[in-house]
Amino acid sequence: MARSLDRRHVRTSRSPIRNNDGVQSVALSAGDPTWVFPPESVTSDMLAVLDRVGERLREVAASLSNGQAGWTGEGLEYSLFPSGQRSLGGFAENPQVTFSAELRPPGFYEGERTWSADAEIAVRCDHVVDCGMHRIESRGAPDLDTPADAVATLDKFTDWLLVRSREVPPERWRDADPLATNH
Ligand SMILES: [Zn+2]
Repeated sequence: MARSLDRRHVRTSRSPIRNNDGVQSVALSAGDPTWVFPPESVTSDMLAVLDRVGERLREVAASLSNGQAGWTGEGLEYSLFPSGQRSLGGFAENPQVTFSAELRPPGFYEGERTWSADAEIAVRCDHVVDCGMHRIESRGAPDLDTPADAVATLDKFTDWLLVRSREVPPERWRDADPLATNH
């Protein structure tokens, strides 16, 4: 699942590279696909799909008041972890709701041999002791065979995020929170 760093005090940035506690976020357009994908798997078709994924996340962010599209403003970003792990994902959010999606190559987690992708819609914890994000809806695909499968799944998942963002007004997501304090 996408890492849940505290973004409450982060202001929108237009820099293509951001550093968050040692994790480097690099906008899709400023990064190198071979950070995540084997060189032979990178095609112009694949890059076109990834562009579309970023565009969707920006579209979701644009539909939210004070919406933010990823750390860099581009929506889809490479995450380069100090441990050497790398993933490709992004988010669109405002203080009411966060839409996020991510894909991870084999080996991202120790012993994991497949590609994986997931997406979620979450709201910020409203508990006295902040536990992070409360997941409202999610999609997951833990066992994808090829980079092309992973990209196609990320494409499908961000399409789902866009559809849901159109179906549900941003202020309504918190009403669906099963962990909400006021339930
Ligand atoms: Zn909580």
